[in-house]
Amino acid sequence: MKKSDVRVLLIGAAGRMGKTVRDVARNDPNIQIAAQCDLGDPIEPAMKNCDVAIDFSQADSIDEICRAALQTGKSLIIGTTGHSQQQRKTIEETAHCAPIVLASNFSVGVNVLFWLTQKATELLGCDFNPEIVETHHKMKKDAPSGTAKTLAEILKAVRNSEIPIQSIREGDVVGEHTVIFRGPGERLELTHHAASRGIFALGALRAAKWVINKPPGLYSMLDVLGLQ
Ligand code: NAD
Repeated sequence: MKKSDVRVLLIGAAGRMGKTVRDVARNDPNIQIAAQCDLGDPIEPAMKNCDVAIDFSQADSIDEICRAALQTGKSLIIGTTGHSQQQRKTIEETAHCAPIVLASNFSVGVNVLFWLTQKATELLGCDFNPEIVETHHKMKKDAPSGTAKTLAEILKAVRNSEIPIQSIREGDVVGEHTVIFRGPGERLELTHHAASRGIFALGALRAAKWVINKPPGLYSMLDVLGLQ
């Protein structure tokens, strides 16, 4: 192990994303997967010997993860989606003491979609009505997707109205998100297609390297990419 290596604890290691992060990390000379946890494994002891924990598990695990981060003072990369308002509050409170990157979608392309959605809604104005369509594989537990909720929050902040979201669950679709702006006599669509889970793992590992030595706070992938 090199001194420059970032030592990662992978939470949800036996899951689809856990396996993908492990595969992608093998090709990153600056990342070492130093510990792994799945359901039933205690998180705090595993976190002690790492620099940062990457969480792709289930929303219910967030209380234990945040407690461990507070006890150990380690950074968190949270990729898990579907948190309740109370769980989101726990994350925000933990971020007063630890640096946390929370992203409903770690792909670089999707984060540029977030940025473009904000610009498009500002430029198109009230004549255009936005809506969101998201499609994922049948095994996905939460609906709408965390990414669709983030897109809705971006639109709502500018439009100050509820944004319709259509969630489709079919086949083995990794993830598709379209923002549709319907205007008088024209329609603008912004679409992102995820071809493999590797894009989320790459972004999470990029965030893990970025967050080391950052002051406590709640950061997004837009911060990691320098887009805000
Ligand atoms: P999955 O069901 O395949 O894997 C989840 C794993 O977490 C399982 O192995 C499960 O046993 C484990 N787990 C459950 N509770 C745990 C706990 N308390 N401690 C440790 N491990 C625990 O799911 P997945 O497809 O890998 O997705 C995981 C999460 O990541 C979901 O919330 C999904 O929506 C989200 N996700 C986020 C992004 C992103 O870019 N932010 C991308 C893909 C998936």
